[in-house]
Amino acid sequence: MLSIDEALAVVCERTSVRSGRVAECAPLSEAAGRILAEDVRADIDLPPFSRSTMDGYALGAADAAAAGAALALAGEAAAGRPGREGLARGSAMRIFTGAPLPPGADCVVKLEDAELQGDRIHLAAAVRPGENVARRGEDLACGDVALPRGTALSTAHVGLLAALGRGTVPVWPRPRVAILATGSELVEAGGRPGPAMIRESNGSALAALVAQAGGEPVKLGVAADDPELIRARAEAGLENDLFLLTGGSSVGDYDFTPRVLAELGVQVHFARVRLKPGKPTIFGTRGGCAVFGLPGNPISCFVVFHLLVRPALLLQAGRERAAPLFFAARLVAAVRRLTERDQCLPALLALEDGDWTVRFAGWHGSGDLTCLSRANALMLVPRGAGQVEAGERVRVTPIDGGRSGDVSLGVP
Ligand code: AMP
Ligand code: MG
Repeated sequence: MLSIDEALAVVCERTSVRSGRVAECAPLSEAAGRILAEDVRADIDLPPFSRSTMDGYALGAADAAAAGAALALAGEAAAGRPGREGLARGSAMRIFTGAPLPPGADCVVKLEDAELQGDRIHLAAAVRPGENVARRGEDLACGDVALPRGTALSTAHVGLLAALGRGTVPVWPRPRVAILATGSELVEAGGRPGPAMIRESNGSALAALVAQAGGEPVKLGVAADDPELIRARAEAGLENDLFLLTGGSSVGDYDFTPRVLAELGVQVHFARVRLKPGKPTIFGTRGGCAVFGLPGNPISCFVVFHLLVRPALLLQAGRERAAPLFFAARLVAAVRRLTERDQCLPALLALEDGDWTVRFAGWHGSGDLTCLSRANALMLVPRGAGQVEAGERVRVTPIDGGRSGDVSLGVP
C-alpha cells in the first residue's frame, strides 16, 4: 500500500494536461487564481518617468555641494502636475510624492531635511544623486517579460497587470471536474431523508473545493449503489478533465466504484492509500481524464481532496507547483499514532508566542463534519508506536488559507 507521499508522486506523474487546449480571455477582475497562457510584456517602462518618492525639494546633488548647501527655491512639481520649466542651475524645486523629477534635478531632499529661509533652502546634510527618486524603468523596462506564461496569477499580479494597461489577460481554461456521489442512502440537497437515509453532502463540499482550487465543478448528482446507474453517469464523468466519485470505493458488497471503473477502461494506478482517514482511495486515468474514487465519509473525502485531488487539479490548470504547502508546527497535546497508517487530522493551527502550534480539532470519527467546521488546518501524524508527544513538530497544511474554523491565523 502506498504512503500518502508516494500516492501524491503517482498522481503528479500520471496526471496530464488536456492536449489542444485553447487559451481564453479573462477580464482582470476575474484573473486572480487563473494561469497565464502567454508571456505578458511591459508596454511601457515602470515607473514610466523618474519620480519623487517623498515630499521635499528636487535638486542636483552636485549643485547642492557647490552652492554650499543653500539653494534658491524656484517652482513646484506635484503628482500629475509637472513643473512648467526645468530646474535652473543652483536652484531647488518644491516637489511632492509622485511628481516627475524636473530636468536638471537628480535627487530629492526630504522636507524635514531642509530648512526654508526666505526664498532659499538650507540643507541639513549632504545629498547623493538618486536619493528619494524612483528611476524611470527601474522596476521594469518596456518590452521586458513582466509575467511569464504559466504564472498562477495572484492579487499582486492583478495590480501589476493593471499598471501595464491590461484590461484582459489570456489564461488557460479552468479544468472541468465532474462530481458524482454514489450511495443508496443519499438524498440530494433539498430532498427529505426518509428512514435510514442521509442528506448528500460530499457533492456540495467537493464542488466548493473544486471552485476554490480554480476548477469548474460539473455536478452529476447522486447515483444509488447500482453498477448500471453508476456506469451510466460515469461515462459522462469521464468526458471531463477530472472525474470524482465519492462512496463505494472500498471492498464491500455494495462498493461498485472499482468494478465500474474497470468496466469503463480506467487504468487504476492505486486503489488504497496508507492513510486514515482515506484508505479506500482509488486513482486512475483514462485518456486525459484523471479519476478519483473517493471514500464516502465526509472527512475522508475532504482530506483526500486536499492531499491528492487538489494537486491533480492544479496541474491540469497549468500550475507547475501542485503539492500541498506543508509547514512544521509544534503539537500542543500528544496524539496517538497508528502502527499501520499515517493520519491526516482536522486541526487548529495558531501562532502562539511567535511559534506555530497545532492541536487536534477532536472528532467522533471520519463522518463528523462538525469537526471540520472548527478546524483551520490538516495535520499529518506519522504512523508508528506510541504517540507523538506534546512539543514535537508535525506537518500541517492550512484549510481555506487558514481563514476557516474557530482560530484564524491572525488574518482578519
Ligand atoms: P462508503 O464510502 O460508501 O462506504 O460510505 C462511507 C460513509 O459515508 C457512509 O456512512 C455513507 O453513508 C457516508 N457517505 C457516503 N457518501 C456520502 C455523501 N455523498 N455525503 C455524505 N455522506 C456520505
Ligand atoms: Mg456506500
